Amino acid sequence: MKNLTKFLMLLTILAVFQNCTSDENQESSLDFPQDSPSNLNMHDADHATVQGFGPNSYWASYIVSQSVTNFLKGQHDNAASLFGMGNVPLYYAAGPGTFNALSFSGGYVVWGEELLQNANGYGNTAIAYVAAHEIAHQVQFRTSGIPSRNHVSATELEADGFGGYYIRKRYTSNWTTAAQGYNFAQTLAGPVNSSHGSAAQRRSAYRLGYLIAENGNYSNRNFDNVFFYYYDQYVLGGQLRSEIQKPEGVSFEAHQYISSFREELSKIASGEISEEEYVNLN
Ligand SMILES: [Zn+2]
Repeated sequence: MKNLTKFLMLLTILAVFQNCTSDENQESSLDFPQDSPSNLNMHDADHATVQGFGPNSYWASYIVSQSVTNFLKGQHDNAASLFGMGNVPLYYAAGPGTFNALSFSGGYVVWGEELLQNANGYGNTAIAYVAAHEIAHQVQFRTSGIPSRNHVSATELEADGFGGYYIRKRYTSNWTTAAQGYNFAQTLAGPVNSSHGSAAQRRSAYRLGYLIAENGNYSNRNFDNVFFYYYDQYVLGGQLRSEIQKPEGVSFEAHQYISSFREELSKIASGEISEEEYVNLN
């Protein structure tokens, strides 16, 4: 009997101890997804640049400065809320080899210090736009059938479109401010037909997302439909037709509005409208 009591006491102590440790483990796994940023599995990520995080990168509770990190976190949360994503964990990787922001199929986003430093040099809109772009990848990860197209740049160009939509809805209604923020993003573009699309294609996708936001509120799935409908018309459709049908889920007014920009969008995508002219559009 005495032995049994001792045994039970020991079990209780062990149980208490174990609870403590597992709580601690849970806490640290909330702060950091894995042992080191460079060990993140790139196959599960959609990313701004081609490389993962460097071998000497490390997890941090903030990057660049507390106030810049707070701004980033605010935009990240705001975009998650606009696109109905709820809480999307955001982690920070600091140190060398962190010129990247990655969205993971596991449901979280990691921002690198070097990328944030660089974006910050272009101003707050650049940070807001990339934050929304990464959240857009969460929309794509979490919603089957988005993107609804499978051409090589569909995923990235649509994320740019969502980015433009977010900027117009939650950040600014001044196009010049919006476009200046985008200058940073296109420094991350690849050649035509690369996964990120050319800089000119990305500019047009961003502009289209912004225009769609000016005249309606869309669910993620409707945005996907509408975005590709118009994008396909002016980019992949080749020749611009004089009139296009109104797609489902778009008001007559919005259709007329977006349609009136088809030629402009086409010229942005082809590069005929230069970067400088792009910033000065109305
Ligand atoms: Zn991306």
